[in-house]
Amino acid sequence: MKNKNIPKIIIIGAGFGGIAMAKSFKNRKVNVLLIDKHNYHNFQPLMYQVATGGLEPDSIAYPVRRIFRKHKHIAFRMAEVTSIDQKKNQLSTSIGPVYYDFLVIATGSENNFFNFEPVKDKLLTLKSIPDALNMRSFIFQNLEKAMANTDGDPLEEIMNIAIIGGGPAGLELAGALAEMKRYVLPKDFPDLNLSKMSINLYEAEPKLLSAMSEQASAKSLEYLQNLGVNVHLKTMVNGYDGSNIQLADGTSFLTKTVIWTAGV
Ligand SMILES: Cc1cc2nc3c(=O)[nH]c(=O)nc-3n(C[C@H](O)[C@H](O)[C@H](O)COP(=O)(O)OP(=O)(O)OC[C@H]3O[C@@H](n4cnc5c(N)ncnc54)[C@H](O)[C@@H]3O)c2cc1C
Repeated sequence: MKNKNIPKIIIIGAGFGGIAMAKSFKNRKVNVLLIDKHNYHNFQPLMYQVATGGLEPDSIAYPVRRIFRKHKHIAFRMAEVTSIDQKKNQLSTSIGPVYYDFLVIATGSENNFFNFEPVKDKLLTLKSIPDALNMRSFIFQNLEKAMANTDGDPLEEIMNIAIIGGGPAGLELAGALAEMKRYVLPKDFPDLNLSKMSINLYEAEPKLLSAMSEQASAKSLEYLQNLGVNVHLKTMVNGYDGSNIQLADGTSFLTKTVIWTAGV
């Protein structure tokens, strides 16, 4: 990073984008500094497995430094970037100011809660490993509560699960939860009345995976229904009060567990 004649490129974000970008500078006369608020790369496609207990978090978190061990011109710093001053070519970060000649922003996406913004704290999300662990813990704690049922809450409220958003993440979760209900819970919770547990997937569009082919939409619907997921198409969810989700047709669904996969 010291030779002033060699351009310094900063990449913010060690996701798929940032890592591919950094690797693309292999054999080029540049110094690259990769910055991420975490020191691991999160393999998001398998996050649903961590959320449902199929995988441990270590399986989807890989140390960024290890990826670039052999790339002498690529350095890594764990830091959160809080602002960019384009006039001074300077970043403000949690470890102080950092200067760049060229800047690449690869910070990924955030959840968009649309009209659910006021109740977002009541929703479970799946954008990070802490989110996945939180979801896993929430679901299994509810199952333990259902076993004890000391609060007198209806079992359905504790055990039902609503997933809002029929895109890839919503489908993966719905499928994994349905498999968990069918194959894992009967063994781990043999005394639990699993007939009280219903997994509902809500999608406002007339089909699942609306960005994909008709075949993918039809197949995924068939697959989920065979697994026992209640799939509600053309169904807009209007609100959530902490116990019931309200649907546009005036009906509601009782659940403490609402998973938001409806937009970024
Ligand atoms: C549950 C789930 C399942 C998915 N499944 C698939 C799949 O099966 N197939 C597929 O192709 N895609 C899948 N995707 C989408 C895919 O993961 C994303 O498209 C991809 O991760 C985007 O890469 P990215 O590099 O743009 O952002 P990200 O991978 O999100 O990386 C952004 C990085 O920036 C860092 N960062 C953000 N802000 C700051 C800051 N201010 N300072 C420092 N660092 C910061 C973050 O810590 C993160 O490491 C899935 C996504 C999710 C959420």
